[in-house]
Amino acid sequence: MIDFYGNRLNTYKASLHTHSTNSDGSYSPDKVIELYKGQGYDVLAFTDHGFVTKTAELDGKGMTLIQSLEMHPKSPSPNSPWHLVALNVSDQFMYDSQREAQSLIDYAVADGAMVICAHPYWCGFTSAQIAALKNISAIEVYNTSTRYIGRQFSMQTWDELSDMGHVYPVTAVDDMHSSHDLFRGWTVIAAADKSIGSVMDALKHGRFYATMGPEFTRLSYKDHVFEASFSPCCEVIGLTNPPRGFCVAVEDKDGYGTGTETLTECRIKIPVNEQSDRWFRLQIKDEKGRYAWSAPIVIPAGQ
Ligand SMILES: [Zn+2]
Ligand SMILES: [Zn+2]
Repeated sequence: MIDFYGNRLNTYKASLHTHSTNSDGSYSPDKVIELYKGQGYDVLAFTDHGFVTKTAELDGKGMTLIQSLEMHPKSPSPNSPWHLVALNVSDQFMYDSQREAQSLIDYAVADGAMVICAHPYWCGFTSAQIAALKNISAIEVYNTSTRYIGRQFSMQTWDELSDMGHVYPVTAVDDMHSSHDLFRGWTVIAAADKSIGSVMDALKHGRFYATMGPEFTRLSYKDHVFEASFSPCCEVIGLTNPPRGFCVAVEDKDGYGTGTETLTECRIKIPVNEQSDRWFRLQIKDEKGRYAWSAPIVIPAGQ
């Protein structure tokens, strides 16, 4: 359960970027289901490259399967085409890799899908390039499959987008292709139940957070005070428009080498920004170095 800004909701562990033998993954869809079910996942999206894995043909073993794919239209980057995860496409969805990116995104959204910009730091997409896309709903902040080349985190790209007024929630994903990508990043969805309707409603309305391990049990913002409760963490930082920030806990905060405190809650008073909207998000890290990230909230100027 989570108290998500005043709503008590169930939490569902989701793998929202997963490959299979339907593209370049090493496991069959049935094996992928078995693996993720075995680790307590509730929701699984197959996101094969340019291929819609039909969920009606699979037994989710109790997990909610989201019919999805990863799309690769041409991008403005010399390094890579776009990598865009489209969650919840219909049986009628026709993928055309030659279609221009914005047109493809608009088509997917009209089909009922939610489109997420995958692993921007890996591909070298700049925040300005992503900001030009309309109709995307989230950014991947963590991607296990790129940790071997040091490009698993996309926090800076995410925050630059927020600075530009493009404030997105984030997912953490395995982008699983083979065994070494398993179970290191996932998305926690806050919803009344795990029907596909409730799950997609929660995703489309930002009721989720990204994690590599730590769990939030409460997120709250009221009267300029942000509060959160979470599993034990030794680094707790509130990020906001630069150059400010809010340090609740960080290793050797006082510089005396006295070690690190472990917290399970925080309370941050956020000053009013008179001139412009403020975004705010909480980032926590446990003793194993695993992060969790809350979605940013926006506090309107002067309020
Ligand atoms: Zn990709
Ligand atoms: Zn992928």
